Amino acid sequence: MHEPIAFVGSLDAREEAAFLAALRAALPEESLVPFRALTPAQREAVRVAVVANPDPAEVARLPRLAWIQSLWAGVERLVRDLGAAGVPIVRLVDPELARTMAEAVLAWTFFLQRDMPAYRRQQEAGIWRPLPYRAPAEMTVGLLGFGLLGAAAAGRLDEAGFRVAAWSRTPRARPGAEAGATLAGPDGLARLLAGSDAVVCLLPLTPATRGLLGAAQFAAMKPGAALMNFGRGPIVATDALLAALESGQLSHAVLDVFDTEPLPPESPLWRHPGVTVLPHVTAPTNPRSAAAIVAENLRGYRRTGRIPAAVDAARGY
Ligand code: NAP
Repeated sequence: MHEPIAFVGSLDAREEAAFLAALRAALPEESLVPFRALTPAQREAVRVAVVANPDPAEVARLPRLAWIQSLWAGVERLVRDLGAAGVPIVRLVDPELARTMAEAVLAWTFFLQRDMPAYRRQQEAGIWRPLPYRAPAEMTVGLLGFGLLGAAAAGRLDEAGFRVAAWSRTPRARPGAEAGATLAGPDGLARLLAGSDAVVCLLPLTPATRGLLGAAQFAAMKPGAALMNFGRGPIVATDALLAALESGQLSHAVLDVFDTEPLPPESPLWRHPGVTVLPHVTAPTNPRSAAAIVAENLRGYRRTGRIPAAVDAARGY
């Protein structure tokens, strides 16, 4: 029997039980122990921690940790709190998560394409007024980020007949795109913003993406374009977004992620008619599929001693 795997998280009891049950079912050969139940000797021995919103002080009390497996795809908090310690952080790379996000991107793109926000407002005012139909082929969706989630979203949007543009840090192969690759750099961002009817943020939060979308970027977008933020809240400057919605430069924003979550009751985003607020639900981690990924990573590590590909703490993702 190996040393135990530590489970370090601050989840509610129901969520923690669901993750522990899924992980134990996927890893019957391992002993998975919540941090609070580890004996001092076990804490000394632990080499791997599976984490979900962990308290950094608890992780720091595992002195022989070789790597950390996150149950989330976004790891900006782990990198901020634990990156300096030098313990490799492995994020969740789960095709089921990508499928869920791609489904959400397609759903909310249809919501905008079929003018649902405008019809909602018309209904509230008792107005019967058909708006001109816009086919998917007449609409360009610009994806910021072309990683696991962005590439999956592009596939669903392509299938549905939307025109798709994408932007990433390094140009990524994208058959069918102009030049066969994603856009990159400041010029690429400017081109994507100017050419998109809806912009979808699927970027990680890093020092380079914090505040990336502000007044200048909204001014550079097509008048009447829409924004969807499914990446992380602080990538978007909220005041600038509200100003762009007020002026009509942007028609609508679908926001799943915020600077502070839960979104505070006093936030003007709650009541703005141009904003759809979602409680961080576009791509929740599925305990069962996540457990299968974690099990694969752990078994590889037990077999070979090799730590799975980890995030680059300096780059931030
Ligand atoms: P990923 O595979 O690491 O992809 C990230 C993409 O962003 C890559 O294309 C990367 O460029 C690009 N990028 C990073 N920094 C950039 C920069 N400074 N300028 C331009 N492009 C940049 O990540 P993922 O799995 O797709 O996830 C993306 C994010 O989605 C996560 O970090 C998380 O914050 C968020 N998320 C949200 C939810 C939700 O429910 N709302 C769920 C899961 C994840 P390269 O291709 O050049 O590396």
